[in-house]
Amino acid sequence: MKILSIETSCDDTAITILEVKKNTYIGKKTIPTSFEVLANSTNSQIKIHREFGGVFPMMAKREHIKNLPLLLEQVLEKITNYKLEIRRKKINKKKPVDLIAVTYGPGLEPSLWTGIVFAKELAKKWSIPIMPVNHMEGHILSPFGKSKEKFIIPNIKTPILSLLVSGGHTELILSKKWMQYKIIGETLDDAAGEAYDKVARMMDLPYPGGPIISKLAEEARKKEKQSLRGVSQDDGPRGSAPLASGDSDPEKISFSFSLASKIKLPRPMIYSKNFDFSFSGLKTAVLYLIRDLKKENPNIFKDEKIKQAIALEFENAVVETLIYKTKKAKEKYKIKTIIVAGGVSSNKHLQREMKKAMGKDTEVLFPEKELTGDNSIMIGIAGYLQFIKKNKKVPKISSIKAKGNLRLR
Ligand code: AMP
Ligand code: ZN
Repeated sequence: MKILSIETSCDDTAITILEVKKNTYIGKKTIPTSFEVLANSTNSQIKIHREFGGVFPMMAKREHIKNLPLLLEQVLEKITNYKLEIRRKKINKKKPVDLIAVTYGPGLEPSLWTGIVFAKELAKKWSIPIMPVNHMEGHILSPFGKSKEKFIIPNIKTPILSLLVSGGHTELILSKKWMQYKIIGETLDDAAGEAYDKVARMMDLPYPGGPIISKLAEEARKKEKQSLRGVSQDDGPRGSAPLASGDSDPEKISFSFSLASKIKLPRPMIYSKNFDFSFSGLKTAVLYLIRDLKKENPNIFKDEKIKQAIALEFENAVVETLIYKTKKAKEKYKIKTIIVAGGVSSNKHLQREMKKAMGKDTEVLFPEKELTGDNSIMIGIAGYLQFIKKNKKVPKISSIKAKGNLRLR
């Protein structure tokens, strides 16, 4: 069976063709399903949206409309002799795939509609069913996918806790059973990725800010480690250590002990009793910090060390908060498997610290780098698994609609 999956919920247009190699039975027993990625084409709009400092919805819609037919041609060419068949007008007669999976929410409604309308046209032309997919379920299943090789959906130990961290969402989702979802915590304001992007903008860095801030923070961490190696064990606590002798560079030491120790940002909602998050206060704290630092030096962003120090403390605040809440939920619900997915899950510091904090009794899964952000491989996986779970029952094509605020349940 072949599935064509379409993703247009935000600023990435993506189409995949997956082949299912083995059937799955969901119920008492789950037989591992194996997939092969036959073709995968993506078009990212990052460069277009960069000048607006974020995603501009009507521009995203226009780009999806432009990209979808081109990507379709690319993927079909990989599995059929598409161009030749078009010339011979054969393509309308036979269906190249058996099922279409398309994201119907959450996301930007104008963008979602472009994918849905495109999917409906193809489904009618080829007389095949459509399975609408919740984008967030796609992210939860993304750690099982591979962008290039064949892959298997293994049996996963439940309960599962998923931390979804992206530009639009920060959610903790409990799955007491496989493919059953309950949101137990979410952000009350900004998403984690959005906070990264907004802080980057305050620091005059381009969109998307997450990868740049995290690179600056990693550089600061490296310098901090190097400088600590140059300080003996009993030199006292961070912030009061005298300069060490030996191989260390005094500049690196002054970086970590004077500047970084001056910067302290809040760990938001850490004392709240629920599993909700809030990142807008942290963002405002960065704004005030920058304002205060600028009083001493109006050109702070010409100084790489200052940028690194702010990025380090900001990233530490975000990652510590995410891990603290995840750990609390893990203990409460006796979680066996933790999934971290969404664009922010590609953050190296989050990956290292999450694995360390969750201990050996819990499996912690992250997607491969290519599948952390929005992609259509995860939509194909979710679409097929839902198709099987629902005993191959699909909604009427005319009833499929975009749902910008769709929630997992
Ligand atoms: P998504 O919404 O899933 O497409 O993910 C995009 C979001 O992830 C944007 O807000 C990015 O800034 C953020 N992001 C991407 N890479 C990283 C990273 N390494 N660290 C933190 N945030 C990141
Ligand atoms: Zn997403």
